[in-house]
Amino acid sequence: TYVIAEPCIDVMDRACVEECPVDCIYEGGRSLYIHPDECIDCGACEPVCPVEAIYYEDDLPARWGAFTDDNARFFHRP
Ligand code: SF4
Repeated sequence: TYVIAEPCIDVMDRACVEECPVDCIYEGGRSLYIHPDECIDCGACEPVCPVEAIYYEDDLPARWGAFTDDNARFFHRP
């Protein structure tokens, strides 16, 4: 899955939302989140993000490693 990391916080440009062919990018209070079960790993969102917040999970910079779980948790709240 692709993951949205820290640069999105309080930016939420939404260019990625327009690109995603399966509409799996959702809006939270301060960031956008990618649904890990719906993302088809097409990569279309990554280059259009103006703040380079989107990474394939294996390419996520180590300092933002927690964002993989943050994206998943967003969709699994009770
Ligand atoms: Fe959507 Fe493709 Fe980005 Fe996954 S990689 S969030 S399917 S645009």
